[in-house]
Amino acid sequence: MRYEDAYRRSIDEPEAFWADEARAIHWHRPPRKILEYTNPPFRRWFAGGETNLCHNAVDRHLDARGDQLALAAISTETGVRAHYTYRELHREVNAFAAALVSLGVDRGDRVVVYMPNIAEAVFAMLACARIGAVHSVVFGGFAAHNLALRIDDAKPKLLIAADAGMRAGKVIAYKPLVDEALALAASPPPHVLIVDRGLDPSMTRVAGRDLDYAALKKRHANADVPVVWLESNEPSYLLYTSGTTGKPKGVQRDVGGHAVALATSMRTVFDVGPGQVMFSTSDVGWAVGHSYNVYGPLIVGATSLLYEGLPIQPDPGIWWQLCAEYGVRTMFSSPTAIRVLKKQDPAWLARHALPEFRWLFLAGEPLDEPTARWISEGLGKPVIDNYWQTETGWPVLCLQPGLDLKPVKFGSPGLPNFGYDLRVIDEVSGEEAAPGEKGVLVARPPLPPGCLTTVWGDDARFLQSYFSHFKELWYSSLDWAVSDADGYYFILGRTDDVINVAGHRLGTREIEEAVATHPSVAEAAVIGVHDEIKGQVPVVFATLKAGTPEGAARADAANALRERVAERLGAVAKPARVYVVNALPKTRSGKLLRRSIQALAEARDPGDLSTLDDPNALAEIRAALDRGSDLS
Ligand code: ATP
Ligand code: MG
Repeated sequence: MRYEDAYRRSIDEPEAFWADEARAIHWHRPPRKILEYTNPPFRRWFAGGETNLCHNAVDRHLDARGDQLALAAISTETGVRAHYTYRELHREVNAFAAALVSLGVDRGDRVVVYMPNIAEAVFAMLACARIGAVHSVVFGGFAAHNLALRIDDAKPKLLIAADAGMRAGKVIAYKPLVDEALALAASPPPHVLIVDRGLDPSMTRVAGRDLDYAALKKRHANADVPVVWLESNEPSYLLYTSGTTGKPKGVQRDVGGHAVALATSMRTVFDVGPGQVMFSTSDVGWAVGHSYNVYGPLIVGATSLLYEGLPIQPDPGIWWQLCAEYGVRTMFSSPTAIRVLKKQDPAWLARHALPEFRWLFLAGEPLDEPTARWISEGLGKPVIDNYWQTETGWPVLCLQPGLDLKPVKFGSPGLPNFGYDLRVIDEVSGEEAAPGEKGVLVARPPLPPGCLTTVWGDDARFLQSYFSHFKELWYSSLDWAVSDADGYYFILGRTDDVINVAGHRLGTREIEEAVATHPSVAEAAVIGVHDEIKGQVPVVFATLKAGTPEGAARADAANALRERVAERLGAVAKPARVYVVNALPKTRSGKLLRRSIQALAEARDPGDLSTLDDPNALAEIRAALDRGSDLS
């Protein structure tokens, strides 16, 4: 089928389109109505239908593929590789579900999961889904304060934590963070269920509150816990946005719409079916982890690889080695991870024959053309950028190699996915922008299945955050974009990050892209800094592939970057200052923290730094600002 026809049908006849797609999952009771849209922008997909995510991800495959590998959890930190067939996964999930039931966890109760990328995190999520409990996974790298905020918002009945995670060979104890978070939280859960990996021998337990999963598992090893059938629009999980732009929002996902959107996208976008292998390098704490490490691959009967470790340890070829060993067909990672590899010898990319490997998908941040080319040419495989948000749960913009692959245009995440009726809107006039004109990317509701149903416990915040920006009731992505004559979209940065230089509006991303075309640049961050005359001026922070040179060499590099921007975008975009640094501050999800860089550059408080990955990177920015621009 042609992409154009399928897409048109998804917009013009959404009920017919999604009724067909819904056949890909098991319904205990079929939907009464495919789309109920009586209270815009709230919508109910597959109303009256009853289904269960765990049943679709596990039980449904037992007959046809019980002995097939379902999950491989690989840790290059501990050296453990844990393999589970669908039958073994079913056993583990039932035992976990029985443990939850024994602790009084019921349908609709929230369960916060604070764990690294280990198999038990997947069991915990699926066990919640099985009994109709609502999981809220909090990324294991978050500090006590972040965890406490999410606990107070979700008000969980139970917290499930691991004793520790590991990163770069170092044990990161989670339990002290859990204790601190529970002390900070206004509504701490009565119990903490601990999955003890044996990494932290000094771990302490609070009597009566803290329970060991191993002991409970022994008691429930052979339990069979019946699946709880949920109405399609009941909540399946909560997941907080990354918090790049401010206080995280509790994205609420439904059951049926989520399952259907994942089944569709596994087939049409990711091109992975029963018995095939998908490797997503995401953490279970992110939306990608939920959709394409856990639910998506399992719903379609594929094999999912889960990875704990760095992309460069034990060596920079580790990911491709795993792809070769497991016969990975589709891999999913982020531009940030590829930029880490880009600092390494490209020979690592070609060390393993990858006959089964078809596609590398990248998402989460703008994918600049040089990085896309570097990895695509190094691997000899197609690289497909895709754009989405925690809110949407699956790609908004992408190409669909599983259906009908349109040409890759470097720098663009592609074409609208099914059900996304996208427009670019002029921020000021609210009118639709013509191809080539910049504006805000919006979607006309109803949003397709899989997208958030609301902000947890706060419909007003849902409306205010996403639907209050224009006179029409449009979902604002809060991203700045432009479309071209072929209908491809380009993301130019967040609307917060638009720079206004003497009346010209420029996306930070356009300038970053121009900087990144310089062969010596590894990564760049561009911010707009207040200027008396021009309003704002672009300021560049860049890391170089070969490390930071000193003195005159640094000035040469900075000058070259300024010229590069002027050549590509014209004099108006010419950076006022360029700083060559060793590292850029990012969130734990690998996103540039431009707001913090900008605050430092304008001598303001850098704001909430709790999502910051590496404090040294911020110190780097401070030092560079003190030293002064590297331009000569
Ligand atoms: P918060 O909403 O809390 O500030 P966040 O927006 O960083 O955090 P996510 O939902 O993880 O949280 O990130 C989605 C955003 O990431 C998108 O809105 C967009 O700005 C950016 N993004 C994701 N994929 C791409 C892509 N392929 N190209 C460009 N930008 C992307
Ligand atoms: Mg966001």
